[in-house]
Amino acid sequence: MKRVAILGSTGSIGTSALKVLARHPDRFRVVALTAFGQKDLLEAQVAAYRPGFVGLVSGEGDNGWGVGSACLVEAATLPDVDVVVNGIVGAAGLEATLAGLRAGKRVALANKETLVMAGELVTCAAREGGGEIVPVDSEHSAILQCVTGQEPALARIILTASGGPFHAWDAERVRHATVAEALNHPTWRMGRKVTVDSATLANKALEVIEAHFLFDLAYEHIEAVVHPQSIIHSFAEFADGSVLAQLGFPNMELPILYALTHPERLADDGVVRFDPVAAGTLSFEPLRTDVFPAFALGVQAGRAGGTAPAAFNAANEVAVAAFLEGRIPFGRIAEVIDLVLEAQTVAKADTLGAVHAADAWARRHAAGLLQG
Ligand code: MG
Repeated sequence: MKRVAILGSTGSIGTSALKVLARHPDRFRVVALTAFGQKDLLEAQVAAYRPGFVGLVSGEGDNGWGVGSACLVEAATLPDVDVVVNGIVGAAGLEATLAGLRAGKRVALANKETLVMAGELVTCAAREGGGEIVPVDSEHSAILQCVTGQEPALARIILTASGGPFHAWDAERVRHATVAEALNHPTWRMGRKVTVDSATLANKALEVIEAHFLFDLAYEHIEAVVHPQSIIHSFAEFADGSVLAQLGFPNMELPILYALTHPERLADDGVVRFDPVAAGTLSFEPLRTDVFPAFALGVQAGRAGGTAPAAFNAANEVAVAAFLEGRIPFGRIAEVIDLVLEAQTVAKADTLGAVHAADAWARRHAAGLLQG
């Protein structure tokens, strides 16, 4: 019986995780749930799963509930937790990831921003505390599934990208895309922030950086390709030139389950079975970095290292929030990221203080640009 804590239980990843766990009551028990502010849904989840620990970050909790952001770290480090599913959006999930890994937990990580901001700290926390990071992101789950059981001879990763809703649009139309258009993802149903990131391709840059830290691979060996059907979730090339890929209809429940059971597989009839004829033609195109500059900016920040990825992530979060509020046009998101990275003095990212300082500076700078 694995005992599971879910951080961000009312979000897209959290609700999918609970569906998966509900199919396997003999294998998993939900022992902690935390949410940001959706109290009603959290209450319903608590009634259904009866966890020993409940946390609500924002707003007033019921009697005995943990409150404030400290409840995330508390949930991630409870002695009776084996696996922490981190489904928090953005930088807010970092301390809980670090604390969970230091406490020797498996962290099933959907919160990719955590690894992007502080990849060195996170991998170091896992090493020191005996914890383990297992990706929930579908592309990285695909790579993990391809490399598991292989000799450690991974030579190259090719991450697939759906290309988002604008992959065939011309540059001018993309610059003025509306919020509704950006949220209309062709193949994946996800939260709002990651859906906008998929439309700008900032998400794929975050995933390149995530792959760099997860698989300890240099940036020149991590590539991305547009694959509009989202059937192949990524490619792993080995030293002998052989390429393995993992396939399936887009559904986050499978990577969530695999993150809980890796390296084992658990029989599960909840996921739609693959049908190659229904999948139809699979096509691939290069990323159009001229139309989607956020991708190249993010990869450049990854290569620069230090606190550059933290600034990239923070600038992106601020710009995406402003876009979702209708304050800036779609094309301005990448411009804000560019200006923030241009103005940044990159430092070492070897302490939590340095990462937080870079994050805070980039947020302030981005907010200033949006006002100016
Ligand atoms: Mg992904």
